[in-house]
Amino acid sequence: MGTDAHSPPTPPVVAPGAPAIETGLPDGPVPPARRSRISIGIDLGTSNSCAAVVQNGRPRVIPSRDGYNTIPSMVALNQRHRVVVGRNAKGQLLFNPTQTVHGAKRLVGRAFDSAVVQSMLPHFPYEVVPTDDGLCAVRLGPLTLTLEQVQALVLREVKGVAENYLGEEVNRAVITVPAYYSERQREAVRRAGALAGLHVERILNEPTAASLAYAWGRNVRERVLVYDLGGGTFDASVLELADRVYQVISTGGDTFLGGVDFDARIVDHLVAGFEKVHGPFQGDAVARSRLADAAERAKCALSEQDSFPIHLPYLASVNGIPSALDATLTRAEVEQLVAPLVERTIRTCARVLDDKGLDPKDIDEVILVGGQSRMPLVQDRIRSFFSKSPSKAVHPDEAVAIGAALLAQSLNSAEGVVLIDVVPISIGVGLPGGGGRVKRVIERNSPLPVRKEYQLATTKDDQKTFDLWIFEGEGATVAECQYLGTIQLTGLPRGAKGSVRIAVAFELGEECLLAVRAREMGSGREVEVLFTTKGTPDEVRKRVEKEATFAAAGIAPPPGAGPADPPAAGGSPPPQGNGLKGLWNRITGR
Ligand code: AMP
Repeated sequence: MGTDAHSPPTPPVVAPGAPAIETGLPDGPVPPARRSRISIGIDLGTSNSCAAVVQNGRPRVIPSRDGYNTIPSMVALNQRHRVVVGRNAKGQLLFNPTQTVHGAKRLVGRAFDSAVVQSMLPHFPYEVVPTDDGLCAVRLGPLTLTLEQVQALVLREVKGVAENYLGEEVNRAVITVPAYYSERQREAVRRAGALAGLHVERILNEPTAASLAYAWGRNVRERVLVYDLGGGTFDASVLELADRVYQVISTGGDTFLGGVDFDARIVDHLVAGFEKVHGPFQGDAVARSRLADAAERAKCALSEQDSFPIHLPYLASVNGIPSALDATLTRAEVEQLVAPLVERTIRTCARVLDDKGLDPKDIDEVILVGGQSRMPLVQDRIRSFFSKSPSKAVHPDEAVAIGAALLAQSLNSAEGVVLIDVVPISIGVGLPGGGGRVKRVIERNSPLPVRKEYQLATTKDDQKTFDLWIFEGEGATVAECQYLGTIQLTGLPRGAKGSVRIAVAFELGEECLLAVRAREMGSGREVEVLFTTKGTPDEVRKRVEKEATFAAAGIAPPPGAGPADPPAAGGSPPPQGNGLKGLWNRITGR
């Protein structure tokens, strides 16, 4: 028993012989055979998700049964051992935080033992555990759900809301992700969609979706910056919009910067105030959840007013006496607390512009997306940095879903739009020796689709296999990058060292999903490419630093390769690699 006034509810315990808790999800991602008439757009957000549809030529947000335009992206196990999703899950967040999963978007497609996940673990009130393949799962009582299953449950709820509203089956969707999502996170969302019974017709970047909503029905020719600050992630992207062509030219962001970080700063401040009066704060998960809720309410209210009172009775026990938290927060105080976070977003904007040699004055419009962009401080900083007020043309909570719905509609019409995206994070291979350097193969901001070839030569006589370590990031060494996985080239022809040369082609399709092919350069024969998941990122780093199993012969674009022509209107399926489509899903340790 803790020292808190509110002890957490006991996690559900399953009686021996009780039926297993059902999620209703299939074992594998098998969308239905018959495609529905309607295709919707889904903004799968950190805090909330939103669906939209185009009807009679007009896009509109799909309201839930109870009239809300968004659905909380939450999954919980309730006291009756039932899995609940959306508003029902949010309803129990305050009193049952350890059994309520929110913020799943930050964990999906990430390795459990990655530094970024490890550093976040203390902030999640629910239990996060590793899966067999090294990714993250959450534990709800006796139930363990992978992050993909959590996302699938949210998507299934969204699908249900859409079907209820439209009165017919809906199994086709365009789903949005942050522009800065890695290839592996995109693939995880695609699979979550399939688990939810959806044909995912396209994974679309959120800023591109917002630009579609912004430019729809207007003949704009502008260079815009989409500033997307949501509950958990931040993206800044520069796009050039001309008629029906939406071209991203630069993108950057932070998948660990969003409204919840603003709330955390306010919580720390409130706790410090409580401790001044009462001594050390020993609140449990319920107390922390109440604090986070109060902080978020205050933050949102302070976007409209100058001060906000907070009263949390019986928050925590001090020497056995239940003590309350009483405070009044002012806008100025909160602005001071979160100013460093806002500065981080402005620095990202500066870098995204700088990458393309642009100045703030080169931007015609700044489009605000994401609930956290409503904060006046955010808008003030944008105004001072860009010397212009941000556009009010789109609704920050709905623009992304509306844009996704417009694309869903466009994919099925002859009058399609042309979307040209860029690679958000550079991809490279680890070079052995020399302090573990990383050789970039595909540069950040390369237009998609892109294909680059990396050439190797054997370093041993009759070498049969090659291991190629793949990293993602902008750093020059393996220690500064994220390990994605190992590509193993097998069945190499016999030959003296250096005589067998292999060209490995990396292809990123329009949705930034990766495929890899390899070819023996002497004969032109395809080499078998296997994906292996050997060791943790640290083990791999050490191995890369020590071993010298291959010699890099350089990077060369294949004949006629390089950034390809703009994709055809409406897009096409992701590239079908040589047995490596969806490669990163099977990667552990990142
Ligand atoms: P999203 O992921 O776009 O739904 O954004 C959700 C985030 O926006 C949450 O952290 C909210 O607290 C925050 N938010 C929503 N409305 C406001 C507001 N009026 N002022 C400040 N933050 C807000």
